[in-house]
Amino acid sequence: MGFCVTCGQSLQDGTRFCRFCGGQQPGEQLLARLRIEAEQIRQIALMMSNQQAMQQAEYAARMQQQQQQQFNQQNFGQQQRRW
Ligand SMILES: [Zn+2]
Repeated sequence: MGFCVTCGQSLQDGTRFCRFCGGQQPGEQLLARLRIEAEQIRQIALMMSNQQAMQQAEYAARMQQQQQQQFNQQNFGQQQRRW
């Protein structure tokens, strides 16, 4: 089962023209190339989202560290005031 490249309606494999919009469908070779390109794009997107996730994790860790430092400073200040 494929999809029309023009309107996105589902079509049977091997259909040359879309029965919904009449758009000509690419041949198998082109479809195979498009699938490979789509897979490459998916891999790149995956890599980028991994990088983004890592950056977010690093940022969260930094924020946590900062909050911990602020918390420590506040506690330290209170202890100093008490003395
Ligand atoms: Zn169509």
